[in-house]
Amino acid sequence: GKVLGNRYEILEKIGDGGMALVYKAKCTLLNRYVAVKILREEFVNDEEFITKFKRESQAAASLSHPNIVSVYDVGLEDKNIHYIVMEYIKGKTLKELIKEKNGLSIEETLNISMDIADAIGNAHENGIIHRDIKPHNIMVTEDGRVKVTDFGIARAATSTTITNTNSIIGSAHYFSPEQARGGYIDEKSDIYSLGIVMYEMITGTVPFEGESPITVAIRHIQEQPKLPSEINSSVPKGLEKIIMKCIEKDQTLRYSNIKELLRDLKEFKIHGDTQVKEPYNS
Ligand code: ATP
Ligand code: MG
Ligand code: MG
Repeated sequence: GKVLGNRYEILEKIGDGGMALVYKAKCTLLNRYVAVKILREEFVNDEEFITKFKRESQAAASLSHPNIVSVYDVGLEDKNIHYIVMEYIKGKTLKELIKEKNGLSIEETLNISMDIADAIGNAHENGIIHRDIKPHNIMVTEDGRVKVTDFGIARAATSTTITNTNSIIGSAHYFSPEQARGGYIDEKSDIYSLGIVMYEMITGTVPFEGESPITVAIRHIQEQPKLPSEINSSVPKGLEKIIMKCIEKDQTLRYSNIKELLRDLKEFKIHGDTQVKEPYNS
């Protein structure tokens, strides 16, 4: 196959996103597999996308965490192939996993949620907001390790208002209300998206759907979601409370940081199953 940067031999395509294509490749110098994310051809002359792509590689490369995909290298070939070289993850996306199993067990949901929270927490500590947390951007290996990918629209936490005009926006199903409004975004926006992912893991479905991204976005702003236990009666109250606190529309009622969320998840993991059941109405 084609060789990029004199060392990355492109093998098969392993992923297809809105902005890029992802290939398995072999680094012939280090003799190891890598993943190479190549900016889609239609965007190679688009300054906005090139800037985004650079920002993505720099955001991810500035982080070093077991639950965040490592970035090894970036490159430009023939003045028109922009690429990012990453750690190759052998596994499935969380989206595929949820679909296959039609929702995950409480234990799987809890373990995966804690790993994602660890990854996001590390990004936040380093001043980076992911902004595109969704199951397509989370990989799970065969032995259950979790890796967050795609810092494609990540931003420095200090940046001001972000509007979504002229950009490929993340999937509306995981948008926080403030993101849907094009308003000010901070760490709590990632917490909301993670809450939607947790909701989907435990119920097999996202809380808000609709005919168009706009419809879905409006629902995130206006509509109260069904409780997870109304969809899956085996969802424990303790876990439900945690999920609902992540997806509070009012940012002041949401978990204010990942540490708080992790504390509750750990607490639930230790005591959740033995928690006293709420009394039945007599
Ligand atoms: P989006 O439309 O979500 O913005 P994108 O164009 O930014 O997508 P990615 O999400 O980074 O692209 O990658 C697309 C897909 O490629 C992922 O959903 C995943 O299936 C696969 N993939 C990405 N990175 C890796 C990796 N490091 N190892 C293995 N597979 C990967
Ligand atoms: Mg993606
Ligand atoms: Mg992306």
